[in-house]
Amino acid sequence: MNIPRSSFPRIVIIGGGFAGISLAKKLKNKNAQVVLLDKHNYHTFQPLLYQVATGGLEAGSIAYPIRKVVQDYENFYFRLANVKEIDAENKKIIADIGDLYFDYLVIATGSKTNYFGNKEIESFSMAMKTIPQSLNIRSLILENFEQALLTNDINERNALMNFVIVGGGPTGVELAGALAEMKKAILPKDYPDLDIRNMGIHVVQGSERLLDAMSPKSSQKAEDFLRGLGVSIWKSVRVTNYDGRMVTTNSDLTFDTATVIWAAGVKGAVVNGLKKEALTERADRVRVNEFNQALGYDTIFAIGDVALMASDKNPQGHPMMAQPAIQQGDLLAENLINLLQNKKMKPFVFNDKGSMATIGRNKAVVDLPHWHFQGVFAWFVWMFVHLFSLIGFKNKAVVLMNWIYNYIKFDREGRLIIRPYKKKNIQSFTSDEF
Ligand SMILES: Cc1cc2nc3c(=O)[nH]c(=O)nc-3n(C[C@H](O)[C@H](O)[C@H](O)COP(=O)(O)OP(=O)(O)OC[C@H]3O[C@@H](n4cnc5c(N)ncnc54)[C@H](O)[C@@H]3O)c2cc1C
Repeated sequence: MNIPRSSFPRIVIIGGGFAGISLAKKLKNKNAQVVLLDKHNYHTFQPLLYQVATGGLEAGSIAYPIRKVVQDYENFYFRLANVKEIDAENKKIIADIGDLYFDYLVIATGSKTNYFGNKEIESFSMAMKTIPQSLNIRSLILENFEQALLTNDINERNALMNFVIVGGGPTGVELAGALAEMKKAILPKDYPDLDIRNMGIHVVQGSERLLDAMSPKSSQKAEDFLRGLGVSIWKSVRVTNYDGRMVTTNSDLTFDTATVIWAAGVKGAVVNGLKKEALTERADRVRVNEFNQALGYDTIFAIGDVALMASDKNPQGHPMMAQPAIQQGDLLAENLINLLQNKKMKPFVFNDKGSMATIGRNKAVVDLPHWHFQGVFAWFVWMFVHLFSLIGFKNKAVVLMNWIYNYIKFDREGRLIIRPYKKKNIQSFTSDEF
């Protein structure tokens, strides 16, 4: 990787997401050589991916070049690399661009979509974890309407205009709300020769309520908001399969649809090579102690979505959200500096600042530790928090301008098919793609 050895210990961080970037920032110009590896050359602000998928924002406004974050850091190296394996015994990582030795390793690889082993769903549904995936969804939505214009087959047309979102967590709810707003304000004007009233938007949720990690009041309000926007909500229903056209569920309910967006679960993006003890039973997260040390290792750490810090209070670990990732990154920086100075490490204590979701114009739900509120004020709070959390002044300004424009004009000008999405068919799959 052409990284010279220095007299300082080398800390290798895999992943420039919320956790990795927080850690890197706090390690700026400390007595260590820091190497940050990511398979993308940008940091993604995932909470706004749904706005890219629905044309509300351009991709560039929620991405930030990692090299720009770290450009004035001393003894700091970034490499565009996909890390394939950890050779813990020899203290090195193996990536597509070569191997690299480490003194300390931090795994901050985040999470990936969990299809719970269903290969057909994985093949035919759309995921929304990355910017390219969001752009695929954007293209597919628009391509569907272009195709719906051309077909005389009414079943085909209805399937093209039917959208099924699996998962009623924040991602599913926010995406459904944004699609419903497109249906109301944009699509009838763009496609006057289609009857947009026939567009179906369905949210299928396995548990008894939407946003089931939030308060019952916020769940109910989100459901009311969505129903008010014309979204159909199916609770306590599990999707069992999707063959590219028909969704089947564990009940009699089926959906004939050309588009399924899978927002029903994530699992840790674990890198191969750690011993069993350091992994969860399904090997889908790294088990860590209160210092984020992978179990059984002194010099390997994991932070953010990929790390599972189980405790009596949180047997399933912390929520896979930005706040725990950022806070773990911040504390680990302090702890690594302590380690280098032979000082004691501090245990991680999560400061839960609450959670929120937006459903659309003037509609959001916010659960703070001691206050739950919904509606217009919640929507302003949601916007302020998301704007504030974006990296970079330009991104903040561009997003704010877009939001003001979209609000005033009832518009989303990002509805562009820049990179057409090629639909898959079952014959076109090789086992590698599965
Ligand atoms: C659609 C969506 C909406 C969300 N909305 C919210 C929200 O509103 N509020 C909230 O708190 N959280 C939200 N989240 C969750 C939040 O984004 C994650 O919890 C957070 O990103 C976790 O941070 P992380 O650093 O652990 O992982 P990530 O931010 O995912 O970063 C992981 C990084 O590792 C890199 N990487 C992965 N594997 C490798 C490899 N093998 N080699 C090299 N690089 C690798 C990736 O490219 C990525 O840059 C949302 C997530 C999604 C997908």
